[in-house]
Amino acid sequence: MSKDLLSKDLILPSLASRRGFLGGAAALAAGASLPFGGGALAKAPLAKTQAPYFYRFMLGQAEVTVVSDGPLPLGDPGTNFAGVSKDDVYKMLETNFLPKDNVVLEQNIPIVNFGDRLVMFDTGMGFSKAFGPTTGRLQKSMQEAGINPGDIDAIVCSHAHIDHIGGICSAEGKALFPNAQVYLSQTDFDFWTDEGKLGTPLKAFIEHARANLLPVRERIVFFKDGQEFLPGVQAVAAPGHTAGHHIFLVSSGGKSFAFLGDLTHHAVLLLEKPLMEFAYDSDPKQSAQSRVKLLGRLADEKTPVMSYHFAWPGFGNVARAGEGFRYYPAPMDMLRG
Ligand SMILES: [Zn+2]
Repeated sequence: MSKDLLSKDLILPSLASRRGFLGGAAALAAGASLPFGGGALAKAPLAKTQAPYFYRFMLGQAEVTVVSDGPLPLGDPGTNFAGVSKDDVYKMLETNFLPKDNVVLEQNIPIVNFGDRLVMFDTGMGFSKAFGPTTGRLQKSMQEAGINPGDIDAIVCSHAHIDHIGGICSAEGKALFPNAQVYLSQTDFDFWTDEGKLGTPLKAFIEHARANLLPVRERIVFFKDGQEFLPGVQAVAAPGHTAGHHIFLVSSGGKSFAFLGDLTHHAVLLLEKPLMEFAYDSDPKQSAQSRVKLLGRLADEKTPVMSYHFAWPGFGNVARAGEGFRYYPAPMDMLRG
């Protein structure tokens, strides 16, 4: 805006006319006649509903539908993030207009239609309510998006944590995607289904991994670092959050994005200060190193990212900024389906 437009001459009359309008409103309230021949008083019940929980965009020739398993509230950020002081964590959140008392992660699940197969990345919490009642929405979100679970050909898992493998089976052990192969690293399968860890603090994670992975054991295919194990889907090792944690490079028609899994959980905390540590990391220091290395590569190559835990729908870019990175969410295009 030019300086002229901000001059007193232009601002003051508009404020004056606004005061005049407000004066008119007061007169109406006092019973004067309506200026426009009657009017709605905006009396209507609150809708209390929301848009369906899916979002579509194209990646080359492939159609991506992001569906949600629902928000996952982690609680006090001071207890979930380490490596910087609690006060610094709260300050970073406050500066970014985010609540300081509760970190809420989304669970953004892209389902990529490559034309000849439907590939889903991670599956949410499923029947576990370890993080409250808002999770476990995957099936409902898919229904809203018009995607039939029986049409999913492949489920690709970044790692075997509770909020990524939880939607594969029902509480009764029934496979919820009856025609899908499941792709996972063998390191994570072996670690998180290990009966010997049931007596450790990891118990809830081990139980949920066993409940979701063992019933489909015959359908699990192990991928390796660097392998394009499905056309257009390449695994890239990103160890630390779990030993077998991977991100995926997803490509179609010359376009790509990286599905980040849990390379970073938060668009501010672990990006501005990527060496910060996260409470649920198996090896926080190695996790931080993976984060810095891979985010640096994605930033330098300008590869878009699809982040599992960022604010809905989690698609955008990262760029180097300060001592870390900044996330730039892509504008949502509600016309292009
Ligand atoms: Zn996660």
